[in-house]
Amino acid sequence: MKTALRPFRILPPLLLCLAAAGCGDPRPTAEQARQFVEELSRDFRALDDEAAAAGWVQATYITPDTQLLNARTYERYLERLSRAVKDARRFDGVKLDPATERALKLLRLGVSAPAPDDPAKRAELAEISARLEAMYGEGRYCETLGDEQVCHNIDDVTEVMAKSRDPDELLQAWTGWHTIGRPMREDYVRFVELANEGARELGYEDLGVMWRSGYDMPVDEFVQEVERLWGQVKPLYDELHCYARDRLAEKYGADLVPAGQPVPAHLFGNIWAQQWNNIYEDILKPYPRAPQAPPLDRELVRQKYDAARMTKLAESFYTSLGMSPLPDSFWERSMLTRPRDREVVCHASAWHMDGKEGVRLKQCILPNEEELGTIYHELGHLYYDLAYKDQPYFFQGGAHDGFHEAIGDTVLLSVTPGYLADVGLGSRVRPSRETTINQQMKMAADKIAFLPFGLLVDQWRWKVFSGEVTPAHYNQAWWDLRRRYQGVAPPNERTEQDFDPGAKYHIPGNTPYMRYFLAHILQFQMHEALCRAAGHEGPLHTCSIYGSEEAGKKLQAMLALGSSKPWPDALEALTGTREMDARPLVEYFAPLRAWLETQNAGKTCGW
Ligand SMILES: [Zn+2]
Repeated sequence: MKTALRPFRILPPLLLCLAAAGCGDPRPTAEQARQFVEELSRDFRALDDEAAAAGWVQATYITPDTQLLNARTYERYLERLSRAVKDARRFDGVKLDPATERALKLLRLGVSAPAPDDPAKRAELAEISARLEAMYGEGRYCETLGDEQVCHNIDDVTEVMAKSRDPDELLQAWTGWHTIGRPMREDYVRFVELANEGARELGYEDLGVMWRSGYDMPVDEFVQEVERLWGQVKPLYDELHCYARDRLAEKYGADLVPAGQPVPAHLFGNIWAQQWNNIYEDILKPYPRAPQAPPLDRELVRQKYDAARMTKLAESFYTSLGMSPLPDSFWERSMLTRPRDREVVCHASAWHMDGKEGVRLKQCILPNEEELGTIYHELGHLYYDLAYKDQPYFFQGGAHDGFHEAIGDTVLLSVTPGYLADVGLGSRVRPSRETTINQQMKMAADKIAFLPFGLLVDQWRWKVFSGEVTPAHYNQAWWDLRRRYQGVAPPNERTEQDFDPGAKYHIPGNTPYMRYFLAHILQFQMHEALCRAAGHEGPLHTCSIYGSEEAGKKLQAMLALGSSKPWPDALEALTGTREMDARPLVEYFAPLRAWLETQNAGKTCGW
């Protein structure tokens, strides 16, 4: 930048005044901004390569050394980021070309909790963030059995919630896990203050406004937008809730699950009641005796599927759409199974190492249905990465954060019983009304049940960041939202000593959550468009785009844009429309909706 200014400096003051627009106002130019972005792109590309390598080796080989190296690299990255954000401010108010303006905006939004300028506060924020994350990671509750202390972590809790049907045992696990939020409360209050200060220094009213500004529309409109989408799906959720409450009342009694009231949050098979699939088989399944394809878990084992073969199977779905096979380096450098000789982070994740072809999967794959689904999901991220690898640095991302999460799930909607039979993993069970309703209930317990939770996590944070909800009402506000949207209630009395939001990773981990709500809506919208491209006829839920290059072309056209254009452009490239729309989701579940309405007739629904 300095070099670019030099020619002006040697000019006499009078000429300088004539040459520059506005005397005495050394405003940088649009061209300088463009060069600034180019320079940043080079810097960040190099930093990213290093951060990815350090992050990868830490996650696949946990030792104090790799943790140190990764932390150092990440610190350097954050330091460079905040310097870049600060430097970029000199272009505030300068009329820029659209690409440069967009790149600078994406730069500002690149961190989910911006630190204040003040070095002491910056360090404090980093410290608090790390502590909150650690409190969650190390979270456990202990009970005394005889003279022994037995402690339970999230894995134990998850297992109990999924498998136990003893309400006392469930209540104990639920209550125990929620104690981990308490010690986070004070730190979270300070976290909000500091992150808000950082956001204000970037020109946003508060951190919630900053998060909402990542959606190419005025922030208030975005609030309306998610409410509109929720309004589209709420009638369907209400029917599902009504049916589930009835079944739970049958199982646990009307004392515990009273009609017309919110359902206690510990009975859904999930610690946050955010997905209900764990109670599908024994509580929600509409027709327990209907014929069904052999369980996928059993087939995978019987046919001796290992991790590589399962990954190949998922890849073959994407290549059937005309996409390239994954590069050799993927197979050489991914971690597909849990190594026997070292500690690793097994939580599945997709990695883009170098902004080019260097994509990797990190997962501890076991031969079961859930793991197979996760591979399809993660490959969605990787094929997105590959599709936009030729975009400039700042445009290598999803059209908005919901898009990235939606791709693999969109593909999974095509993993139908018919597709599984095609690839030899199922037998052709003639679809009947009963098998269809069962199949739809299984999906609804996962995807429809999730919607209100996906919506409310950030509704709560938006209120917290704006100050509408003060620390004295953190927990009350959390439960107000859960009652209002999910129709669930805490199973015992909660107070402001508790900090129940802290029992969900994304709060202490400070990961924005609205993306998951949006992804759940978008995947059905994308699926419908792809099915249209594939020439599918018949109800939406019977469509699989497997083998359709026409659908693949449509998908690729959207993926290749990355984040170079506002998301409506990307959505339009695939669906022909510029608006998010939950109608395809509602249509997909039309058979279940009709069935639920019959089941619920005459019952008191709602809460
Ligand atoms: Zn994902």
